[in-house]
Amino acid sequence: MIVVMKPASTAQQISDVIARVKSDGYDAHLSQGEQHTIIGVVGESPTPLREENYGTMEGVEKVMRISAPYKLASRHFHPHDTLVPLNGSHMGSKKVLIIAGPCSVESREQIIDIACQMKEAGATALRGGAFKPRTSPYSFQGHGEKALQWLAEARERTGLPIVTEVMDTAQVPMVCQYADVLQIGARNMQNFSLLNVVGESQHTILLKRGMSSTVEDLLMSAEYVLSHGNNRVMLCERGIRTFEKATRNTFDVNAIPVLKNLTHLPVIADPSHAVGLWEYVEAIARSAVAAGADGLIVEVHPEPDKAISDGRQSLKPERFKAMVQQVQRIAEAVGRTA
Ligand code: PEP
Ligand code: MN
Repeated sequence: MIVVMKPASTAQQISDVIARVKSDGYDAHLSQGEQHTIIGVVGESPTPLREENYGTMEGVEKVMRISAPYKLASRHFHPHDTLVPLNGSHMGSKKVLIIAGPCSVESREQIIDIACQMKEAGATALRGGAFKPRTSPYSFQGHGEKALQWLAEARERTGLPIVTEVMDTAQVPMVCQYADVLQIGARNMQNFSLLNVVGESQHTILLKRGMSSTVEDLLMSAEYVLSHGNNRVMLCERGIRTFEKATRNTFDVNAIPVLKNLTHLPVIADPSHAVGLWEYVEAIARSAVAAGADGLIVEVHPEPDKAISDGRQSLKPERFKAMVQQVQRIAEAVGRTA
């Protein structure tokens, strides 16, 4: 952290700041220029540095944090890529992995049928919502535990691990009984009680970026899970809210290389929610892999016009197969495999 003193600050104010730095257990490095005096705060201490406390001290102009507020998620702290096991492969390895399936689990037959088709198309894991975070309380909310049982049956048939959303702390034990990967949805990215509980669970977590959250917010949320000793966390860029109305969200392709640089955790992309229109999903999927995504999560439905949720952005299985082939070519072009 750096404390910049006002040009008119007094020697007493400067020494008060230095005394505060020392009493917090850090070292103070003083640099006095013609206009400004700058105090660098360095070292380690159990006392957290509170920028706002320093900012209110007499004579202080501004306080700037220079190190990231997240530690366990940071690549600085953990330089090597974290590999998250998934169905005999690893998310975060050279191989680009694809999670696919419907937005919602609609029936036993539906999920088993899609699971078989996803397996054949080369997916690594099956997605499907049992608990759905719908904007309207009158929309379909998911089939709950019954859907989890159908997902488990689909896994038995295909061997594909299950990725499904858990919406609140009370559901965690039940969802853990059936799921291989717990999805934390965009709307719950900052549900800190939920992050604490899934962190304790030690299940693999797929953490989606909140629609109005920054990259740093996402990493701070990952930090909650990691701080419970659960390092099997995959981050997901799923589009953010912008002024643009032509698509459901705006895919923040920047977030992919930025996250790969800032963190050791695998980074995946959800082109379906990012764009919201099936005809653009393949293009966004290609761009995500070209930008360095470790994997994709894609919505697929055999009859999108009959889907209970997100049919508009769901690929038919044939289109999904075509997308997998395109992604394979992009992956090879950027030194990966798929
Ligand atoms: C979903 O995966 O179906 C979903 C609701 O995603 P998000 O939380 O990204 O909106
Ligand atoms: Mn969906």
